[in-house]
Amino acid sequence: MQTNLEKPAAEKKVEQTEAGNYFVSNYPPFSFWKPDQVHVVEEVLQRPAPVNVPLGVYFHIPFCRKRCHFCYFKVYTDKNAGEIKAYIDAGMREMERLASQPYLKGRKAQFVYFGGGTPSYLSVPQLKDLTDRMKVLVPWDEAEEVAFEAEPGTLNETKLTGIREVGVTRLSLGVENFDDHILETNGRAHRSGEIGKAYNFARSLGFEHINIDLIAGMMNETEANWKVCVAKAIEMQPDAVTIYQMEVPYNTTMYQQMKAEGKVTAPVADWQTKRDWVSYAFDEFQKAGYTVTSAYTVVKDPKRIKFVYRDSLWDGADLLSCGVASFGHLGGVHYQNQADVGPYMQAVDAGKLPIFRAYQTTHEDRFVREFILKLKLGRSEWAHYIEKFSEDPRKHFGPQLDSLVKEGFATLDADGVTLTRDGLLQVDRLLHDFFLPQHRQYARYT
Ligand code: SF4
Repeated sequence: MQTNLEKPAAEKKVEQTEAGNYFVSNYPPFSFWKPDQVHVVEEVLQRPAPVNVPLGVYFHIPFCRKRCHFCYFKVYTDKNAGEIKAYIDAGMREMERLASQPYLKGRKAQFVYFGGGTPSYLSVPQLKDLTDRMKVLVPWDEAEEVAFEAEPGTLNETKLTGIREVGVTRLSLGVENFDDHILETNGRAHRSGEIGKAYNFARSLGFEHINIDLIAGMMNETEANWKVCVAKAIEMQPDAVTIYQMEVPYNTTMYQQMKAEGKVTAPVADWQTKRDWVSYAFDEFQKAGYTVTSAYTVVKDPKRIKFVYRDSLWDGADLLSCGVASFGHLGGVHYQNQADVGPYMQAVDAGKLPIFRAYQTTHEDRFVREFILKLKLGRSEWAHYIEKFSEDPRKHFGPQLDSLVKEGFATLDADGVTLTRDGLLQVDRLLHDFFLPQHRQYARYT
């Protein structure tokens, strides 16, 4: 197939990147989670602990050295050691309150995830204090994965040794790009020289899984530079690489700048170019022996390297989530904490759960959620949904599946659906069509 990059300019279809968030990270969409549903989380917590439902623990660190221009998270770049300690204390009081409830009491973590923000912004003593306290509240001794997001510029030998010693098994390095000019113009705090140093030392410490993140289509990215990035990533030989396509959500400084200048189109590559760049990366990684395992990931050794956090959550695991703005899921109820540190700390200080909004999922929501999230893996088997939900996706999503096939985005067989490369590269856009009618905001198919 001729890619957009190979076509003459006149033939290229241009689908500009406009402001908006198309990435599907959960279902139903967050806009359907409501403050008047918070009481259902309290009700779930009073139920007895379930049998055979895995439990994950998430802790959110909202601190960063600098705010990236494309960042849509609530992050703080000006907090001192005292404020960070107060935040960790609040997070531990929140976790203590949750973990002592009947639904969670006595359960152990199957997986642990430190996200942000920048978890590696914490000093080693702060990290040790945090993790020692967490392990008492929800033991990790049986955890299959302890994942930790890190910004290369925050890592030195002492920090990485500390991260390894607290039990982290999967280190996720936010590399994004290898070019200093692109890193700078996109507001990243780190520079290319810090990437190799951090990676090589981390490798020598024996982390089981080192993942690097890249973003296709950052501001000022060129095809030539993207190819260099892919080559450098392959040279490093990480266990896995995650590649996102740049989008520009409304709450980013990049969008504020567009608005101030009266622009509709973001100053980043158009969608087809980003898809072509990811496709190029997938091809190059495959030539180097990697396997494409989802719309965003290539993995060196799929038998050994797992994404326990992602896979368990998509399977419907419970997630005890603590910290400002964090997202959790308990007993079929989604919840999100207060998104600002002020109201979050006030709620915890007042002895309340700092939950801002929640959503009680229905059986149908859970079926749709699992089906669409797992489509991101590129393959889904009918039997799984018939057995688990008594729902046959062919009946439930007949017109949507037909449409995918007609447009060349998927093939169907007796056992399941397989996305084509073209379908995989734009899966988030396609998933909106599978939402229940009451949850559709951007559906192409109605
Ligand atoms: S490092 Fe991550 S969380 Fe922090 S500002 Fe940049 S994109 Fe946002």
